[in-house]
Amino acid sequence: MTMTHAQRLLAWYDRHRRTLPWRAPAGRRTEPYRVWLSEIMLQQTTVATVGDYYRRFVERWPTVEALAAAPLDEVLSAWAGLGYYARARNLHACAQDVADKHGGRFPEDEAGLRALPGIGPYTAAAIRSIAFDHKASAVDGNVERVIARLYAIETPLPDAKIEIHLSAAELVPEARAGDYAQAMMDLGATVCTPRRPLCVICPLSPSCRALKLGLAETLPRRAPKAEKPTRRGLAFVLARKDGAVLLRKRPTKGLLGGMDEVPSSPWREGRFVAADALADAPVPARWTLLDGLVRHTFTHFHLELRVARATATTDRLARLLPGSAWCALDLLDERALPTVMRKVIEKASLS
Ligand code: SF4
Repeated sequence: MTMTHAQRLLAWYDRHRRTLPWRAPAGRRTEPYRVWLSEIMLQQTTVATVGDYYRRFVERWPTVEALAAAPLDEVLSAWAGLGYYARARNLHACAQDVADKHGGRFPEDEAGLRALPGIGPYTAAAIRSIAFDHKASAVDGNVERVIARLYAIETPLPDAKIEIHLSAAELVPEARAGDYAQAMMDLGATVCTPRRPLCVICPLSPSCRALKLGLAETLPRRAPKAEKPTRRGLAFVLARKDGAVLLRKRPTKGLLGGMDEVPSSPWREGRFVAADALADAPVPARWTLLDGLVRHTFTHFHLELRVARATATTDRLARLLPGSAWCALDLLDERALPTVMRKVIEKASLS
């Protein structure tokens, strides 16, 4: 009897599965809270980075109810460094919905999961399959690559998505759907890698069309991406003599919503003259323009910030800037400070 894709993949998984902080031992299911938390953290971030964050979160908030009861500020500051802060706000809102509307239990059905903040089709399918062993097809970038190669789908992404998702769904077995989902993730991460896939050790090689056609490394194809624009601005680091820095809160809605920041001029595309931007200084002080740039890339744009620094002669300057407060340098780690702002403060303290 010839083995199906799923049987070959599961046999491989039983021998080579990765040990991950959120993964239950063989034969056991990971609880929904842990699947959900790890999947939200893993969006756009690597397994290596997520490990420590995940451990800290489950230690501090071992259940979805505990996370729901935590102040949003604490969740945002524990998240700082993972980027994409809208996900952290959604994470908190989702925990509150699960705690308040579902008695602390994640729903098992797709519609129930998709109605929760921050849960899209992929995360819903990952929770349904891994936590509940339901036959659901979780297709992320890794799985897209495996399927595009397995069937030698040459249509470029994103147009190929429908075909890839349909093909992926057909392959999900009736039994061990959760292990199958994790096996696909592992195969994509460790064997069917973007460059130099390890086809010689791949359990799917007997039926892989891309391998047969010599196309493995060239798939999936992608439509060329539009260039990201670059926005520029001037960040103002006002420090007291003891090193404390003036921080203010960003508006709750929008980019980096609810996070802390050092004040800055508006971030705009096009011509930027740092000396002119000094006119946007939040408080009157003797501002010194520092050499060099702080660069950061967001989902939709690159950001280049010049940095200006000044020493505050009086504590009262903070009163001129509503919503601002002094923060001692050694307490910065406890603040919900996005990575770009950490880079700005670092530049101001090193220059
Ligand atoms: Fe990927 Fe190669 Fe396996 Fe095909 S044989 S699925 S290209 S690793």
